[in-house]
Amino acid sequence: MSSLFDLTDDVAVVTGGGRGIGRAIALELARAGACVVPTARTDAEIQSVVDEIEDDGGDAHAVTTDVTDAEDVARAIDETVDTFGSVDIVVNNAGINPDDGLGLPEDVSSEGFAKTVDVNLTGAFEVTSAAAAQLHENGGGSVINVASVGGLVGLPRQHPYVASKHGLVGLTKSIALDWAPDVRVNALAPGYVSTDLVEDLEENERLRQSVIDRTPLERFGAPEEIGGPAVFLASDAARYITGACLEVDGGWTSR
Ligand code: NDP
Repeated sequence: MSSLFDLTDDVAVVTGGGRGIGRAIALELARAGACVVPTARTDAEIQSVVDEIEDDGGDAHAVTTDVTDAEDVARAIDETVDTFGSVDIVVNNAGINPDDGLGLPEDVSSEGFAKTVDVNLTGAFEVTSAAAAQLHENGGGSVINVASVGGLVGLPRQHPYVASKHGLVGLTKSIALDWAPDVRVNALAPGYVSTDLVEDLEENERLRQSVIDRTPLERFGAPEEIGGPAVFLASDAARYITGACLEVDGGWTSR
């Protein structure tokens, strides 16, 4: 009897798969049976994910890629197909929230704004469109865009990040319409998850406590807690779900 969550025979590309949330998603997809291709710019991190998956008896292959470089992304998809024969699942997880994208609108440089949108939104578009033929070829392909609660509500002093994540939710819903019924496209909206991205916030006791106070489950999430929802959205258990944005935020957006 096979599980609805079984991803055996699927090949998954996970951008930003070397650390934090992407790493946890890559490991969980592998545990569900998928062949996993973690991608990022830092070789050592994605290779360590591959090593961990292979040590557990899974299949994985690291591909170094910058999601802001369309040619590089196309090469990464080709390398995935050369290695494992297809691309069935794309997880657009690579994301940044750089210091020069933080602040009031009058204080944020055009460069800081553009850089954030390039990675978080345009990068997801590039990877998704590069994988389009593969996602359609075998039928049943699935795209998961890692958005944020900042893709659903405003956050002060982070307008580039929030704009990019709202854009990513819009991209999700539009491509879901374009590619139905063959390929499902969904988003995940994590709340505050303990990774390098929120390290500065967690080190500031006042800010850390304000997140905890606002979160009904009274804590930050762990990266591993995003892996299960990603497997769910990629799997047959979610076969009637497309164009959705699943909040994984300890209840943060319910307040
Ligand atoms: P991390 O900073 O820990 O990881 C980010 C990943 O993205 C790294 O693997 C990094 O690898 C990769 N990356 C960054 N820029 C590029 C690029 N140009 N090309 C390819 N890969 C890139 O962040 P998180 O794990 O916290 O974040 C993962 C996703 O989850 C992001 O989209 C983030 O916005 C989202 N998110 C995070 C939340 C949190 O609280 N942590 C909350 C809500 C959403 P490298 O630098 O080697 O390229």
